[in-house]
Amino acid sequence: MARRSAEVVIVGGGIVGCAVAYQLTSAGLDDVVVLERAHLAAGATGVCPGGIRQQFEGEADCRLARRAMGFWRRVNELLEPPQPFVFEPSGYLFVADSPALLERFTANVARQNGLGIPSRILAPAELRRRWPALCWDGVAGASFCAEDGFLEDCHGVTVALARRAEALGARVHYQEARAVRRRRRCWEVETAAGPIACRHLVLANAAGALALAAPLGVDLSISRRRRRLAFTEPYEPWVLPPLLVAPERAFAGKQLRYGVFYLGWLAERGGEGETVFLERALSAGAAFLPALAELPVRRTMSGVYDATPDHRPILGPVPGLPDLWLATGMSGHGFMIAPAVGELLASLILGRDADLPAAAFALERFARPPAAEGLVI
Ligand SMILES: Cc1cc2nc3c(=O)[nH]c(=O)nc-3n(C[C@H](O)[C@H](O)[C@H](O)COP(=O)(O)OP(=O)(O)OC[C@H]3O[C@@H](n4cnc5c(N)ncnc54)[C@H](O)[C@@H]3O)c2cc1C
Repeated sequence: MARRSAEVVIVGGGIVGCAVAYQLTSAGLDDVVVLERAHLAAGATGVCPGGIRQQFEGEADCRLARRAMGFWRRVNELLEPPQPFVFEPSGYLFVADSPALLERFTANVARQNGLGIPSRILAPAELRRRWPALCWDGVAGASFCAEDGFLEDCHGVTVALARRAEALGARVHYQEARAVRRRRRCWEVETAAGPIACRHLVLANAAGALALAAPLGVDLSISRRRRRLAFTEPYEPWVLPPLLVAPERAFAGKQLRYGVFYLGWLAERGGEGETVFLERALSAGAAFLPALAELPVRRTMSGVYDATPDHRPILGPVPGLPDLWLATGMSGHGFMIAPAVGELLASLILGRDADLPAAAFALERFARPPAAEGLVI
C-alpha cells in the first residue's frame, strides 16, 4: 500500500505544481507527493499555447520571468525529455497606437534593460522593414524582445518535469484533495483513498485553491476569467513569427511554427458567444493582415485564468498558518514563469535564499490595494 505521509504535498499537477516538485527534488528533498485529480496538465496548462516572455512592467515580474528564461534556454539539458522540446525565440512585439502607450513602453524598456532583458523600441519604419506583409497604419511604435518566444508543448514540459521529479524520489498520486486541515504540527489532506499527512502543504491548483483555502479562513482574492483562442488553417508564407500584442485593440496573435495563426481577443468578459469572439479576434487581426478576414478557423480553445487583482501570482506562506504555501493566481502567465515559481517555492520551503523578489508576490500585499502589473495579455 502506498505510504500516506510525505514531507511535502503539492496539490495540483499543472505546470506550477510539477515545477515546484521538480525544484524541490532537484534541491535534494525527495519526500514529495503531487496530488492531481485528473491528469497532468488537465487545467489551464493543457490549453496554453506556450508563450514565454520577459517583457513585464513591474521589476519583480521581470526578475521572475528573467530567471525562468534561464531554465527555458536549458530545458532539454535539464529535463532530458524523450524528444527534445523546441524553444522558438520568435519574440514578443507589444504594439502601441497612442503616443501615451508608447511612452509607457519606452519606460518599461529602460527598466527591462536595467535588469538584463534585451528589449527595445521599434519605430514604424523598422516594423515595416521587418514585417513588410503587415499593415502598420496607425501604429506609433512597439516594444520588442527577440529573446522572448514560444515552446508549443506545455503538456510535454509538465510531464517531463513530473518524470524528472519522480526519478529523484517524488510520487504523483491521481487523487483529488477534497479538504485540508491542520492536525497538531502537521497538515492533513483528505482524499478518496484516505488522509495524507505532511509537514509542508503547497496549494498549486490554480482557482481550485479557493475551495481548499476558504474553510481555513484564507481569502485568496482570485477570480476565474474565461479566455479563448482561435486557431486558423495554415497560412503561407510565414509573415508573423513574433507574438503581436496590441493592447489598445484588445488583440494578440501569432503565426505558429506550422503556419497556423492563433488569435486572441483580450476584452472578453465571459458572457460573449463564440460568434462575437471570432468576429472580434478576426477583425482585429485583419487590420494587421487583411488575409485573416478570409482564413478559415479550424478550432477554438477555451480555458480559465486564475486572476488576482494586480495580475501577479500569489507565492509564499500564509500568515498565521505555518508550513502552508501558495503557488497560485498565475493570472495568465503561469507557464512562462513556472520554473522560477518552483525555484522560489522550493527555496522558501527549504529556508534558502533564491535571490528572487518574494515580497512582491506575498498574499499580504492584498491588505492594501496593490499597484497592478500593466503588461497583461
Ligand atoms: C487561453 C489561454 C492562453 C494562455 N497563454 C499563456 C501563454 O502563452 N503563456 C503563459 O505563460 N501562460 C499562458 N496561459 C496561462 C497558463 O496556462 C496558466 O497560468 C498556467 O498553465 C497555470 O498553471 P497551474 O499549474 O497553476 O494551473 P493548471 O494548469 O490549471 O493546473 C492546476 C491543476 O490542479 C488540478 N486540481 C485542481 N484542484 C485540485 C484538487 N482539489 N486536488 C487535486 N488536483 C486539483 C487540476 O486538475 C489541474 O491539473 C494561458 C491560459 C489560457 C487559458
